[in-house]
Parts: sequence; structure tokens; C-alpha cells
Amino acid sequence: LVSRKKKPENTVVQINETKIGNGNQHFIMGPCAVESYDQVKLVAQAMKKQGLSLMRGGAYKPRTSPYDFQGLGLEGLQILRRVADEEGMSIISEILDTRDVESALDYVDVIQIGARNMQNFELLKLVGSVQKPVLLKRGLSATIEEFMYAAEYIISQGNNQIILCERGIRTYEKATRNTLDISAVPILKKETHLPVLVDVTHSTGRKDLLLPAAKAALAIGADGVMAEVHPDPAVALSDSAQQMDIDEFNQFMAEVKGFAEVI
Ligand code: PEP
Ligand code: MN
Repeated sequence: LVSRKKKPENTVVQINETKIGNGNQHFIMGPCAVESYDQVKLVAQAMKKQGLSLMRGGAYKPRTSPYDFQGLGLEGLQILRRVADEEGMSIISEILDTRDVESALDYVDVIQIGARNMQNFELLKLVGSVQKPVLLKRGLSATIEEFMYAAEYIISQGNNQIILCERGIRTYEKATRNTLDISAVPILKKETHLPVLVDVTHSTGRKDLLLPAAKAALAIGADGVMAEVHPDPAVALSDSAQQMDIDEFNQFMAEVKGFAEVI
């Protein structure tokens, strides 16, 4: 069902007033993790000044170490919703567990399925059966074919509002956190009818590569770019090395806007 052979025209994913997949290019920005109301509010206000309305933020965080910050959970979703309602924005947040899907529906506009859960088939089936767009990230070591099968799990339950997100894959290369598989974008666009985003933060893991990676993503035909922004990355509770601060975000947007079709 995800195949373009079955459905030649692009699937447009509707997030409130915003349409993803109709040829325009979008930016989904926001902190790695929700830490406080003030933190999210500052990022939201900066985004609004740039004309952006799609904000990400993790409330349930899939951390490598069990001793690292695990996220604020439901409280994090509540903070996101409150700020989004105040600022007229839409929010995207990762859900890790089938038990949290139902309560999340009241707060998020898009459910994110993270790389570590790309093959959590029960979670995929469950989000396939709800009326909410899903942003599906490519697994840490997933092939493009496995990525498409993961999307197939969702669509086979009736939900075709799926955005694919290339976020880098694990290779032998250590210069970047993951290896951004930029050619996955045109392959996924050709093989499927779903919109495709590129997460430049988790793929590169390097602030100095966010801008060139974003330009490459937009030039190669991605429907948008995801990147992380934090008011004070130095004290961030996760991904502190690679989140942009507000000044860096403004600079990033100024440079990247010329490359995008329309935000
Ligand atoms: C995230 O986007 O917050 C995240 C954890 O990314 P990924 O699942 O791609 O590692
Ligand atoms: Mn992160």
C-alpha cells in the first residue's frame, strides 16, 4: 500500500492547516526533550518569528543509558500542548509504548515513532489504527526496504497519514553520529507516495553540518527538514552538543530559507 505503483500521486499529510507532501518544504524544529514550560515557550516564540508552526519535542525519551534523563512523560505532552495552543502551533512528539498512545492522542498533532521502535510491530499496528498523522523514523540499521515495510504496517491498519524521516544509519564511519543516507530521499520518493523528511540533527550529530545537510536534503527533494533547537543547549538534559541555540537557529533559517520552495 505504500508503493507508488499502487498510488501514483503523492500522499499529502495534513497537520492542522499545514500540508506536507504537496511540493512545499517544511521545517520541524524544537528541543530534543521537553524540560520545562519556559524552555518550550522560548523555542516556540523564536519559531513563530520565523513563520514556523511545526514544533517537535520529546516527552518520552529513548535514552541509551537508563541513568540519563528519560523525559517528563505525560507532563511533557501537556507542556507542549499548552504552548502550542498559546502560540497557534502544531506539535510532534515521540511515543515509545503502546500503553501511552491513547493518552497522547489528546495532546499531540503528530505521533513520532523513533528509530529504536521502527520495528516495534505492535506499536506500528496501533498507530496505524488511530486518526492521527505519524512521523516514522528510519531504524538505526534499517535498510530502505525494512523502512518501507515498517510504514506498510501502519498503512495496512488504515492510517495513510505517514511521514517518513531519514535520520542517518549506523555505519563504520565515526566522523558523524550516524551516516546521513541522502540517497534514501529520492529512493523513498520514487518507491513510495509518502512525504519524506530529513533529520539533520540526529543524522550528523554535529552543529557544523546542520546547514549543509539541510541544503542537501532540500536540494535532493525532501519535503522538509527536522532539527533541534534549545534556548540554552549547554544545560540541555539530552543532546546538548548538537542542538542549536536561538541565535544559531535564526542564522540557520536565514541561510536555508533561500533553498526551500515554501515553508
Ligand atoms: C528524536 O527525534 O528525538 C530521536 C530520539 O530521534 P531518533 O529516533 O531518530 O534517534
Ligand atoms: Mn535529540
